[in-house]
Amino acid sequence: MCRHLAYLGEPLAPQDLLVTPPYALYRQSWAPREQRHGTVNADGFGLGWYADGDEVPARYRRAGPIWADAAFADLARVLRTRALVAAVRSATTGCAAGEAAAAPFAAGPWLFSHNGAVAGWPGDLGALAALLPPEELLALEAHTDSALLWGLTLHRLRAGAPLGEALTGTVADVAAHTTARLNLLLTDGRSIAATAWGDTLYHRTLPGLGTVVASEPYDDRPQDDGPQDDGPHTGRPQADGPRAGDSPWQRTADRSLLLADSGGVTVHPLPGR
Ligand code: GLN
Repeated sequence: MCRHLAYLGEPLAPQDLLVTPPYALYRQSWAPREQRHGTVNADGFGLGWYADGDEVPARYRRAGPIWADAAFADLARVLRTRALVAAVRSATTGCAAGEAAAAPFAAGPWLFSHNGAVAGWPGDLGALAALLPPEELLALEAHTDSALLWGLTLHRLRAGAPLGEALTGTVADVAAHTTARLNLLLTDGRSIAATAWGDTLYHRTLPGLGTVVASEPYDDRPQDDGPQDDGPHTGRPQADGPRAGDSPWQRTADRSLLLADSGGVTVHPLPGR
């Protein structure tokens, strides 16, 4: 399982989320605290971010470990962005190595990441792959299960599906064909959609800044399991809830879809829960 993180809100330096916190994604590359599959995430990493006034994100990805890349530390310090997706990778057996296989995957305004693995990759997934037109199959960014999931998601996005619907459709397609761990993360720079399906997922409001969605907390602030099983709810601190500056990490129930935008966070049960 890889680890990933998305942010949406006021401009900040990626370093503030990805490097400086005590258990940030940077550290999660060698010492994740909640990872259930795999140990280190040294098979590549990526950062995708949006510059003001440009709806197409930029990416910086590398095939090696994040801690060995001096350029990443510089970029994370000097950039300012309102939205980003970052990931560190632990490659699944049978999946290609290299930069092209490191999340985030991208097309147009979208960035996508996958924590997990699809059983039967690649030999038993012919029927799943056949859901894509041949030209889209040939255009997959890498020979990995994650790139196929991105292809399925992108197909729906290009047909006009909103982010949450695109992820829900991909989860349903995969679940109909095989078993999988499908923690997916998708943004268009204005909103975030994420699934919890087989691994941990958290979100947190940064008072005065925005929203973070992450595989695991990057610090030891309190956690709040919150109402997860009774349909949509807001993830924003309530008036009688945590004090400003003290917002807890909220854990997302397994088999849920999380949606976040400038209005807050909602969590919805996915079919099959
Ligand atoms: N299966 C994907 C890959 O190999 C994701 C791996 C993971 O979540 N560890 O890239």
